[in-house]
Amino acid sequence: MRLVFNVLGRRLQQKGLSTLYCGSKLKLSALSLQHAKLFATTSVNHDEFLRKMRNIGIAAHIDSGKTTVTERLLFYTGKISKMHEVKGKDKVGATMDSMELERQRGITIQSAATHITWKDHPINIIDTPGHVDFTVEVERALRVLDGAVLVICAVGGVQSQTYTVYRQMQRYNVPCIAFINKLDRMGANPHRCLMQLRDKLGHNAAFMQIPVGLESESTGIVDVISRKALYFEGESGENIVEKSIPDNLVDITEEKRNELIECVSNVDDELAEMFLVDKQPTDEQLYDAIRRATVARKFTPVFMGTALKNKGVQPVLDAIVKYLPDPSEVKNYALDNSKQDEEGKGERLLMNYERSFENPAVALAFKLEQSNFGQLTYLRIYQGGLERGDFIYNTRTGKKSRASRLVQMHADKMEDVNEVFAGDICALFGVDCASGDTFVKDKKYQVSMESIHVPEPVVSMSLKLDARDDSGKLSKALNRFTKEDPTFTVFWDQEARERVVSGMGELHLEIYAQRITSEYNLPVTLGKPTVAFRETIVQPVEFDYTHKRQSGGSGQYGRVIGYVEPLSPDNYTKIEFRDDTKGQNLPRQYIPAVKKGMIEDVCESGLLMGTKVRGFRIVIQDGAHHMVDSSEIAFKLAGQGAMKQVLEKGMIRIIEPIMRVEVTFPAEFQGEVTGSISKRKGVISDTDGVADLLSIHAQVPLNDMFGYATELRSLTEGKGEYTMEYSHYAPCRDEVEDRLIQKYKEENEPQVQNKKSGKRR
Ligand code: GDP
Repeated sequence: MRLVFNVLGRRLQQKGLSTLYCGSKLKLSALSLQHAKLFATTSVNHDEFLRKMRNIGIAAHIDSGKTTVTERLLFYTGKISKMHEVKGKDKVGATMDSMELERQRGITIQSAATHITWKDHPINIIDTPGHVDFTVEVERALRVLDGAVLVICAVGGVQSQTYTVYRQMQRYNVPCIAFINKLDRMGANPHRCLMQLRDKLGHNAAFMQIPVGLESESTGIVDVISRKALYFEGESGENIVEKSIPDNLVDITEEKRNELIECVSNVDDELAEMFLVDKQPTDEQLYDAIRRATVARKFTPVFMGTALKNKGVQPVLDAIVKYLPDPSEVKNYALDNSKQDEEGKGERLLMNYERSFENPAVALAFKLEQSNFGQLTYLRIYQGGLERGDFIYNTRTGKKSRASRLVQMHADKMEDVNEVFAGDICALFGVDCASGDTFVKDKKYQVSMESIHVPEPVVSMSLKLDARDDSGKLSKALNRFTKEDPTFTVFWDQEARERVVSGMGELHLEIYAQRITSEYNLPVTLGKPTVAFRETIVQPVEFDYTHKRQSGGSGQYGRVIGYVEPLSPDNYTKIEFRDDTKGQNLPRQYIPAVKKGMIEDVCESGLLMGTKVRGFRIVIQDGAHHMVDSSEIAFKLAGQGAMKQVLEKGMIRIIEPIMRVEVTFPAEFQGEVTGSISKRKGVISDTDGVADLLSIHAQVPLNDMFGYATELRSLTEGKGEYTMEYSHYAPCRDEVEDRLIQKYKEENEPQVQNKKSGKRR
């Protein structure tokens, strides 16, 4: 789970959300046979089909032109008949921005998957969120793609978010090609971008093309391998005209061609051998070597153009099929839950990409979307195949569903398909599941594509409707979002009589509030953020408690003996329970009641500040019962009493979430940024970076991170950004703990006195 707080992204968010609402409607196209046809022509050779397939993402710093590039990819592959500029004058907005909020902001935040075909190659474009706040979505999007196009602005160059995006791609071993966009803009400098790719990101990168003119004189590009100049003519640049290289660019083309061969030779043995004996590779040999080096993530081929002016996009499509891997070239593993290790983690099982129904089907639901026809679930198939009408099982819940419709999506239109195989991306209707669930066809094949660990939310805010709503739209919206994103939760705070939403950061919750406003036309206001503090028991405590009541009729009797011990810090949010009893002093059937008594209620409201008490193991060793007076209720009350005894006797501390923070910024601001982290009680573990872009890694209490986006922006002239992910819980500093206890006391003193409750100190 990872949150990226991008200063620029936030600025865009704040740039205003108009109130127009026109929900994202799914237009049902006539049953398209395009895909089926592709199958029909290739059904003899699924292997060849797989080799042709690409699953790619477009990654970019915000405003580099990702949406514009994507729009052109759809246009040239015939998926849309018209192009719209992002936030264009025609008020239609780019097609990929299918959500209203995205339309308003002109940026893409959801990862829809679009299917296109280029020169007989099926390509799925998985739209990775532009500004990377929705971490679950980003992680899943990166997971399901096999390659990426890194879009860089020719003026802005490699900016800090490019750095963040690139690091994420590294984490998931995603090979990429680069596209330098906006050659037509004043100040465009592709050479600087290449240098930055090398120096800042450490890429072994080289030009595949050079520009014919820059800024207002940008007219075309030269392909350094084929030694041809390409011009993009026609209303939308659809006619590619090949000409000989302009005289003034002949020498530089040769220079860049040699540089390209040298860069690839450095990482590819075959080409290196030719290079050493001064043998010129053929174009084909060069293409093959570039492909090998790119797939192995040892080389980044660099393309360029201007998406807005429709120049240079088709060669990117060619490059996607030429240099990025097909699904079978990427190793994917499922976890076999029938063979678990001591920690309950399944054994890794390599997925077989053969496109056949012979292999047991495995599919990952990587994204959910609400449509007019019910829940739309995006799947990536990792093994075997699915046919329309198949029964599938969710390996997490065991629930059986029917894949009555299989579709492939194009932003907000869909096409029905009859079957899908390993490597494909498709969507299903009406299947009830959560994002991240794995589906199989054979119920006994117990595998999952993701370990099902979901971190507990660490920040809460109250959420209030600005106006009354009787339509139930709010619960509909919340229901949907909590299902799509397991780290976003909602509960009704009985005491404060308000709805509270919890998530992985302030921005995470703000985005959902904005989506409720824009997509459901329900303006809402968020309260102040509160951190999920917890109380924990730091030393073992013994208990021996007898619950006894005799009031006429049958009485109540139950005695429990045992101890409570702290868990390790990575388990600070858990409660474990162990039954070590021997003999019949405490009959087995009462153990669940004891457990309930000890955990429910009492552990929901600690003595120091009324928060949940977590991070310990309860061990029951012995007890006593009475033939007549013992009952479940008696033992539940005995459990409750025992736990209260523990809390009163034990040494209790308040613990808080600590975040792993990574700040990326131009080196000139090192002093300021380091100071800002120290001021927030962060512990810096590492500083790294290339050339003038630095990254600080630190652990900082979440409670000290509020308002950091604003501070960082002003410290770094808007050039710095940070990512934040939950790391672990740790005891608060003494002064923080004292302050929290004091505050809780002040707020609850009258209440405590009124209730005359001895429960709270
Ligand atoms: P994203 O945030 O990366 O998705 O970027 P967009 O596609 O929304 O583009 C950001 C802005 O740059 C928009 O105003 C686009 O019209 C503009 N833009 C995109 N490509 C080009 C280009 O090649 N040249 C110029 N001059 N502007 C472009």
